[in-house]
Amino acid sequence: MSEEKKQERPSDDLRPCRYCKTPIEKGLKRCPVCGTLTPHSDTKTTLKWIGIILLVVWGYSMVRSLF
Ligand SMILES: [Zn+2]
Repeated sequence: MSEEKKQERPSDDLRPCRYCKTPIEKGLKRCPVCGTLTPHSDTKTTLKWIGIILLVVWGYSMVRSLF
């Protein structure tokens, strides 16, 4: 019976909500405090995906032009 591991610890898994700035768990799809969806929506990830998609489209058109 040792349930003392539930102490609050400074976690780097916490990031401020973009709306209410409350530190909440990274990866949450919704802020439990203010209810904002995708509280950590970061532009970098979106840009990365756009880059990947562009690369795939470009690669695909290159392959198609070869055949
Ligand atoms: Zn919030």
